[in-house]
Amino acid sequence: MFIDSARIEIEAGVGGNGIVAFRRESFVEMGGPYGGSGGRGANIVFEVDEGLRTLLDFSYKKKYIGEAGENGRNKSQHGHAAKDVILKVPPGTVLINDTTNEFICDLIHHGEKKIIAKGGRGGRGNFALAKAGRHALEICENGEPGEFLNLRLELKLLADVGLVGLPSVGKSSLISVMSSVRPKIAQYHFTTLVPNLGVSKTNDGRSFVIADLPGLIEGAAQGKGLGHQFLKHIERTKIILHIIDMGSFEGRNPIIDYDIINKELVEYGFDLESRKQIVLANKMDLPNAKENLEQFKISYSNVEIIPVSAITKEGIDLVILKVADLLDEIGNIFHISEQPKRKLYKFEYDNGIDIYRDEAGDINIRGFEIERLVKMTNFNTFDNIRRFANTLKTMGVYDLLEEFGVEPGELIIVMDYEFQYDQ
Ligand code: GDP
Ligand code: MG
Repeated sequence: MFIDSARIEIEAGVGGNGIVAFRRESFVEMGGPYGGSGGRGANIVFEVDEGLRTLLDFSYKKKYIGEAGENGRNKSQHGHAAKDVILKVPPGTVLINDTTNEFICDLIHHGEKKIIAKGGRGGRGNFALAKAGRHALEICENGEPGEFLNLRLELKLLADVGLVGLPSVGKSSLISVMSSVRPKIAQYHFTTLVPNLGVSKTNDGRSFVIADLPGLIEGAAQGKGLGHQFLKHIERTKIILHIIDMGSFEGRNPIIDYDIINKELVEYGFDLESRKQIVLANKMDLPNAKENLEQFKISYSNVEIIPVSAITKEGIDLVILKVADLLDEIGNIFHISEQPKRKLYKFEYDNGIDIYRDEAGDINIRGFEIERLVKMTNFNTFDNIRRFANTLKTMGVYDLLEEFGVEPGELIIVMDYEFQYDQ
């Protein structure tokens, strides 16, 4: 099955916890801090695999969670970092933040890899914290939470050439005579409802990827019929081969047909001026094709037309050569969605701190930074609790609480934790 969009959740692994431990030597009663730091949590990484042509896998599995890093160990040893989760996608996959609708990145070249959700760093153990100048002994951090994202995946095929035309004009027949090798798409059963890819080769060894895009019908740009969902795949092609049935199959009029398709393309937002288009006058083996072609040429005098036949293979070699030359001229440029200037896959969190009184009258604090701090705090030692309180002060939380009018002794809730306000 050909699937060209998917929605998934990804959550990178939490870092391993740092630990409190002490050096033990036979002649010293208690040595210095010796607890190791935790390892990094698993990143969620996307990798382009040219063997893939669909997002099918993502329609079965919707949630991808990275493993936690290993906790720190005794004798100042670091825990191991967790193994990254690698998600393979076909070339031409676009990643979008599904919560904010922001474009994240375009994944194009085989082997290209991008970390999309970063694993949390390991929490420091008392060995590392003592080195960093902390004087308290029983001090350690929990691992940092991994990044979480709702993602939308959109596949926009990367073909050099797209075949467009009304149903039954001969697109499938033409791609089969124009291309020899078939990429792995063949492993999925495809009908004409699936974009069909082929590789065309010239005698002098040049090659290009050609996509047969299923029948455009009138109104496709507004979502009518099946054509619409495939229009996005021609967005990236460098050349459009516009197939016209010159045999007037089923009494069609080639002059009107040409107009119908161009209108659809323009309506979809396609800039026809900037995209090279060649008309393939197909079915030239049929009796009335020659006359239709003459009429067509009169109506569209400045359009480039090549007469062909998928049955007799007339003109096919010429088309392949012509397209290869044109592609050489155009260069290796894909039409890629406009990218915002924002730095890629760097997620900005809301650093704000939200303080409010809940129905029970208790004070609640919410906010990315403070919740992260709570998750990373090990509340089992006094040293850690003191450090937590100090960090709250530096973050300005105490000032905010005072501004909010919190009285000493009041209960303050952050996530699953309750604290007593006591200045
Ligand atoms: P598509 O819907 O555009 O993919 O069209 P198909 O490739 O499925 O072709 C539709 C019909 O037209 C089939 O019966 C083909 O055999 C026929 N056909 C395609 N190309 C030619 C051609 O060059 N000459 C003739 N006579 N028939 C053709
Ligand atoms: Mg077809």
